[in-house]
Amino acid sequence: MFDLTSRDIKYLTGVGPQRAAILNKELNIYSLHDLLYYFPYKYIDRSRIYLVREIDGNMPYIQLKGEILNFDTIGEGRHRRLVARFSDGTGIIELVWFQGTKYVTSKYKLHQEYIVFGKPTVFAGRINIAHPDIDPASELKLSSMGLQPYYNTTEKMKRNYLNSHALEKMMQSIIGHLNEPLPETLSNSLLHEHHLMPLTEALTSVHFPTNPEQLRRAQYRLKFEELFYVQLNILRYATERQQKYKGYRFDTVGDIFNTFYTRNLPFELTGAQKRVLKEIRRDTGSGKQMNRLLQGDVGSGKTLVALMSMLIALDNGYQACLMAPTEILANQHYATICQLLAGMHVEVRLLTGSVKGKKRESILSGLLTNDVQILIGTHAVIEETVNFAALGMVVIDEQHRFGVAQRARLWSKNLQPPHVLVMTATPIPRTLAMTLYGDLDVSVIDELPPGRKPIVTLHQYDAHRESLYRTVRREINKGHQVYFVYPLIKESEKIDLKNLEEGYYNICQEFREYTVCRVHGKMKTADKDAQMQRFVSGEAQIMVATTVIEVGVNVPNASVMVIENAERFGLSQLHQLRGRVGRGAEQSYCLLVTKFQLAEDTRKRIDIMVQTNDGFEIAEADLKLRGPGDLEGTQQSGVPFDLKIADLARDGQLLQYVRRVAEKIITDDPTASLPENELLWRQLKVLQKNNANWAAIS
Ligand code: ADP
Ligand code: MG
Repeated sequence: MFDLTSRDIKYLTGVGPQRAAILNKELNIYSLHDLLYYFPYKYIDRSRIYLVREIDGNMPYIQLKGEILNFDTIGEGRHRRLVARFSDGTGIIELVWFQGTKYVTSKYKLHQEYIVFGKPTVFAGRINIAHPDIDPASELKLSSMGLQPYYNTTEKMKRNYLNSHALEKMMQSIIGHLNEPLPETLSNSLLHEHHLMPLTEALTSVHFPTNPEQLRRAQYRLKFEELFYVQLNILRYATERQQKYKGYRFDTVGDIFNTFYTRNLPFELTGAQKRVLKEIRRDTGSGKQMNRLLQGDVGSGKTLVALMSMLIALDNGYQACLMAPTEILANQHYATICQLLAGMHVEVRLLTGSVKGKKRESILSGLLTNDVQILIGTHAVIEETVNFAALGMVVIDEQHRFGVAQRARLWSKNLQPPHVLVMTATPIPRTLAMTLYGDLDVSVIDELPPGRKPIVTLHQYDAHRESLYRTVRREINKGHQVYFVYPLIKESEKIDLKNLEEGYYNICQEFREYTVCRVHGKMKTADKDAQMQRFVSGEAQIMVATTVIEVGVNVPNASVMVIENAERFGLSQLHQLRGRVGRGAEQSYCLLVTKFQLAEDTRKRIDIMVQTNDGFEIAEADLKLRGPGDLEGTQQSGVPFDLKIADLARDGQLLQYVRRVAEKIITDDPTASLPENELLWRQLKVLQKNNANWAAIS
């Protein structure tokens, strides 16, 4: 059988070791199989030929048929270029090359019929086509040309003549060598039931579709397969985990929970909080290990749900642990929880990187004797040296999204894993949640505590600071506090710091009558905390900060969030920042300050922020605008999939559909032993072998 997977790309006609090395390095393509799964990013209709006299400078890519009359090298130095005069009898157009001119003059002959393809542009009053694709007219049969594939290539590839056209030729060569169909990767029953194209036909058609309908069906089959295996993998993992581990059974809701609920709880729980707590109680009482994702917009009251879940663990003789993404947030959780538990004799400790020496030792020994009941901290809590007597519940309050693989590593710490509640600070679009957190059950808090007024968001231009300052002054005079936030992004740290310093200076000048404090990421922790404290205590009315406050402080008295250079923030970041205000009962404001000239995408981001406060809506928009690969946190967090053709922003419906298909297969075949599914399980193993992240979670 023709084994595509194993054959090295360098043996393909026209490739060789040098080009193979470039393909390895630039696109991670090693085998013919890898190349076949490198899909076009667009297609251009090449079924029509234009006449030179029809052409103007505003056309998209077009093709002409004619001959080269002569070559000429003109210009000096950087402007040196090769120009060919090309004619089809209706007029003359110039073809231009700035590089690779030797190759061009040796390859293309005068007075032979060629098909020229490219984008016409106007230069110095004349129309030309720069770096066109050229093929002998005899080689391209128009009837079979249909849609031409376009492949992404890198600069380095282009310099070595590995452009889209070259890739297209390589694809043609592979497909031309296929004497028999490739081994099918989906079972017959799936192909049949869901009307999917066979693999070989799909791969051929996705590279060389003859019409849009065929292309659509080929893409559908390949997307189906890709998403299906991602879901099968994740669901299989969840099922195996359920079979392998028993969960601690929390039978009682006892004194600690009840005392808190009746005596300490300062307000009535919202309906959503009650519902989620019920879901958690059902999970933890079932004898299975809980793995639950709690989604809720900023300010929806997730902390309280986390605390009450931990109290149930305590009531059953277990310890609980709450992990926060940053030290500031861990501190705040610690303070909030101590306050909520006031008078209750629950032993709560804080463990972060900066807790050292005797203090640390006493915490560690207290954990081993079950004298420390709740541990709150940063990543420090999952270090080797931290061990518990009876850890029953872990809550992860995450800013950055952990992938399935990271969470799996976290749990391997215990022989019998604790119940796990993951809380996300940013709502995640359903499609992304299903892949990134596909192994978790999901709870949603979709209701804010009562009495909150929706935050009013306004877009203001940099040049009109008077009205902005008026709003700020008016709010401070009412006794409220104000944040000014500046972007701080790694590459331009120095400039950003300067912006922050200048901003700080200007604000101090403008608001001489008030106290202004300042926090940025470069400060020592102690200084940072001291500054933060001045704002929390109300001593300072204005806080000038970088994004370190993003997940940090909770100051209900703060009613205005001014975000400077808002154009430089991503949507979810803007939403997170905005969530720092609007926590009290008063009307709050978020002022997005930008320069006047904005790119279209940026303007869209700002408009969305102005239009809605709904985190889910914003997350969906973010996914659409940026694509999942760029979503904050997902890239570094080891997303357990690398999608080659499906698009989480566009293929949400298909994803939900294939998830149900995968669910059914697992329900019908829990031990993976039905003959009709044999191919699926085998293929899953192949994929796991080829994908480190997939392997890590299985
Ligand atoms: P987040 O979901 O962003 O973590 P928090 O847990 O920090 O939200 O809650 C935001 C604020 O709302 C806190 O000040 C908290 O005390 C308050 N809060 C939480 N639940 C309720 C409730 N049921 N009623 C009134 N206020 C609540
Ligand atoms: Mg929170």
